[in-house]
Amino acid sequence: MNEHIFIGVAWPYANGPLHLGHIAGAYLPADIFARYHRLKGNKVLMVSGTDQHGVPITIRAEQESATPQEIVDKYHKQFIDCWKKLGISFDLYTTTGTMNHTQVTHDIFVTLLSRGSIYRDSMLQAFCPKCRRFLPDRYLEGTCPNCGFAQARGDECDECGRPLDPADLKQIRCRLCSTTPRFESSEHFFLRLSSFQDELTAWIDKQTHWRRNVLSTSRRFLKEGLRDRAITRDLDWGVNVPQPGFEHKRIYVWFENVIGYLSASKEWANMQGDDVAWQPFWQGDARSFYFLGKDNIFFHALSWPATLIGYGNLNLPYNIPANEFLTIEGRRLSTSRNWAVWVHDYLERYDPDPLRYVLAANMPETGDSDFSWHEFLRRNNNELVATYGNLAHRVLTFAYRNFNGAVPVPGELDGHSLSLLNQTEVTLRDVDSLLYRCEFKGAIKRAMNLAQEANRYLDEQAPWKTIKTEREASAKSVYTVLSVLTALKTIVYSFLPFSSEKLHYFLGFDGNVEEQGWRIQFLPPGQKIRQPQPLFAKLDEDIVAEEASRLGSPNQNQEL
Ligand SMILES: [Zn+2]
Ligand SMILES: [Zn+2]
Repeated sequence: MNEHIFIGVAWPYANGPLHLGHIAGAYLPADIFARYHRLKGNKVLMVSGTDQHGVPITIRAEQESATPQEIVDKYHKQFIDCWKKLGISFDLYTTTGTMNHTQVTHDIFVTLLSRGSIYRDSMLQAFCPKCRRFLPDRYLEGTCPNCGFAQARGDECDECGRPLDPADLKQIRCRLCSTTPRFESSEHFFLRLSSFQDELTAWIDKQTHWRRNVLSTSRRFLKEGLRDRAITRDLDWGVNVPQPGFEHKRIYVWFENVIGYLSASKEWANMQGDDVAWQPFWQGDARSFYFLGKDNIFFHALSWPATLIGYGNLNLPYNIPANEFLTIEGRRLSTSRNWAVWVHDYLERYDPDPLRYVLAANMPETGDSDFSWHEFLRRNNNELVATYGNLAHRVLTFAYRNFNGAVPVPGELDGHSLSLLNQTEVTLRDVDSLLYRCEFKGAIKRAMNLAQEANRYLDEQAPWKTIKTEREASAKSVYTVLSVLTALKTIVYSFLPFSSEKLHYFLGFDGNVEEQGWRIQFLPPGQKIRQPQPLFAKLDEDIVAEEASRLGSPNQNQEL
């Protein structure tokens, strides 16, 4: 097979720490998908990076009396630490601040300009007479015309979530000094999105394998008609505009950060010592998948494909499995109110696999889903520990003690055992096809069902009883369950990589799970097993109250 799979994951803004919404929305599904394809023996290139431009970062810098670069460096370091601890396995995680990214962005900009897909025009921009500067949307504040919230931003109301235009705001004022701005004409470059309307419509119509929410959102934008969009801004932080007279303007962050998928691929190729190594992931039969939250659908399903068509000779997205939102304890996640669970906080107190499990089992694939600490505790204790972890621990411990630290020699397998092993093969196939279609929630549920079946079998067989009277029957059932576990560590590996590697090791295998590939590995009778440890830790009920008390308390983590 050896397909080329390109995986692009939305670029997080370096203006605040990562929270569970980011992980459930994009990073975890992308990582599960990447690990799955690596197991299948496909060639995977998964890239992303810190989005270091954009107004939220300059606002944060002004608030903290720091330079934008200092803010970026702080969060970029924290993001990399989170990926490592959470096991998000990027092939390259970079930033939009590299020279390479600027060069690739300029190349695309200049090419589209020469073909007429980018043109120059003027537009009205808010200007603060006191600060003597143009004000980007997020530097504007006013009353939301929709819900009356007094601190709505120029681009969005934080209270009701409605996207806004600065002109919509009542009592509009400069966020830095509260002066009422005036609107002045400013020269900018525009992406001629309207000219891609027909081609994009025809292309979207063919994407019948896309998720329904992604298709319907894309079609809604197309139905409203694509309008040309300004892709430069009156700012001094960002990728510069490669045209004379635009020295004080920068390329708009949403035109530029998606180009990061291509520039990161080129950076990765360069690091491999092969400047064209990116091409098999972007041309020909390669398939590209983009993981993001539903608020980014426009930029990935329309604006980025338009840019790719305009530039030419690069694959359009094959799939954009955007997720819906994650609520926290039944309420909309809000960074400004600290109604969020921060990833670095979580990782200080708990292991990565339980979070990966709970978010995957409840992934917001087809509708919003909720994270609660009570549910976290329940799934950790009842499903990970009691169903899967205990199955592994009690059988491994039993074999270790009663069969000389080795996999027992089973003799002939009976109908029960063969039926469970058959179910194991069916599960491998089912999970394969679910993961292939990016149905992560269904896949992990299917895998856990197998663990449940194995528990049932084990309770019926009761090898701890038969060991005294029928040693061969005991050996047979222990061997059968160890075989199921050998398969399970592969089946759940993309979800639970840390505990899968442990199980692989306890079962006596060398190397790692990924090297074994997506298949049921043969468990040799007599193979020495290693002294087992529990795969997961049971958590105390107190965490529910403790964690709930952190929610909504004041802190420094808010995003802007
Ligand atoms: Zn509002
Ligand atoms: Zn001002």
